[in-house]
Amino acid sequence: MSIQSDNFQVPEIDYDDFRNSVGTMDETGNRKWVYPRKPKGKYTNYRNYTSNFLLLLFFGLPFVKINHNPFLLFNVIDRKFFIFGQPFYLQDFFILALGAVTSVIFVMLFTVVFGRIFCGWLCPQTIFMENVFRKVEYWIEGDRNRQMKLDRQEWNSEKITKKVTKWSIFVLISVIITNFMFMYIIGYEDVFKIIMEGPVDHSLQFLGMVGFAIAFYFTFAWLREQVCTLVCPYGRLQGVLIDKQTINVYYDFKRGENRSKWRNGEDRKDVGKGDCIDCHQCVVVCPTGIDIRNGQQLECVNCTACIDACDEVMEKVGLPKGLIRYATEAEIENQEKFKFTSRMKVTTLFLALLIGFLGFLMYDRGSMEAKFIKPAGSTFFIRDKKITNTFIYTLLNKSNEQKKLSIKVISPKHAEIDFFGSDKITLKGDQILKGNINITFPEKDIKFSKQNMTIGVFDEKGKLIDSFDTVFEGPFQLPL
Ligand code: SF4
Ligand code: SF4
Repeated sequence: MSIQSDNFQVPEIDYDDFRNSVGTMDETGNRKWVYPRKPKGKYTNYRNYTSNFLLLLFFGLPFVKINHNPFLLFNVIDRKFFIFGQPFYLQDFFILALGAVTSVIFVMLFTVVFGRIFCGWLCPQTIFMENVFRKVEYWIEGDRNRQMKLDRQEWNSEKITKKVTKWSIFVLISVIITNFMFMYIIGYEDVFKIIMEGPVDHSLQFLGMVGFAIAFYFTFAWLREQVCTLVCPYGRLQGVLIDKQTINVYYDFKRGENRSKWRNGEDRKDVGKGDCIDCHQCVVVCPTGIDIRNGQQLECVNCTACIDACDEVMEKVGLPKGLIRYATEAEIENQEKFKFTSRMKVTTLFLALLIGFLGFLMYDRGSMEAKFIKPAGSTFFIRDKKITNTFIYTLLNKSNEQKKLSIKVISPKHAEIDFFGSDKITLKGDQILKGNINITFPEKDIKFSKQNMTIGVFDEKGKLIDSFDTVFEGPFQLPL
């Protein structure tokens, strides 16, 4: 494609050539190491605030408890799950499954409208890479040019010192991240116990921690942007989730082309040049090694570094900022300003409703669960004109508080319950209790061979806290 005007002509450039290669791979298929320039600017500041807040949450939440319960815990080993301090059991699995499905719908709808905002602002990979590991790298090895020079130079004392210091700090950070991640799985008390008692007594957990620490080190020291461009399934889905109405980081090609180097005193419009001065600052700052001027690409994690870099350049040359900005493709094509469209409003409302629904599911799950199941192969027996069925009860206390419970048949009326002991049941916090009961009805009250029955569990104030629908079996009855 050649770009021409009456006064200006640029050489023939194949603008689609970038599609034939991966930004981080050379012609021989070897990895091209990305040395992004240290970003600075308005968006970088906002992202730093967001990242610092999220890092604070990550390192702080394992110590937060609600009603003596961990705020978040996903103990897959002991099958103990706590979300916002609420315990979840295998019995609540449908809520977790529904929550997972709701989250997938949420993420998809969010992406359709808001693009990869998650990747740039909230993804742990981006936050740890750009705000922790990369910062250490800048601190020890300097900015882009000094890093490139260091990598090219011989292994002298300066290079050995800098590399060994950086790698050692990377190992230390990987170990710290692993310890905190394990706090979300086994709780901070158990992690401290492993640290205090040493690896010999906890060899399995210790090996797991070593494995994760190695994986984190490998990811942040070597794999880096390859996680976003090659490994992450969410990144792979972008092609089918975004369209011309999706908000993303875009280069305003209508305004920017024909790109050409800056010349002092030149009226660029007069000579048919666009606002892009082809300074490559948006490219050298990109942590995934792409040129945003080629259009939206799978590799772009919407980190906004190129927006800041270009705004800085525009400010220096006295052109309006926003040549690279958050926009939709349609806005760029039609040269419109960003609008919060009705589609965005409706989707945002729907997303809020989805979150509300998820919150309701969690809130409405109750603090108690009761089940009354017949023992396998059991049937009824009749004595003194009374019919009896045996049930095995399972009572699960989903709270931390001890509960004093009683069990009564709500319908039909006139049931007697034999508890084989005291009819007052005490259930400790977080306890599962199983036992047998016999339920007996006068023969005249059982009208069907399978009579619907509701059993209630009541607290010590007599308030119904859970009920269970089952059937009571009696002799076969001819239809009336
Ligand atoms: S930073 Fe802006 S002006 Fe420079 S090459 Fe990128 S888009 Fe063009
Ligand atoms: S193109 Fe811009 S927004 Fe996308 S990853 Fe590169 S620097 Fe970040």
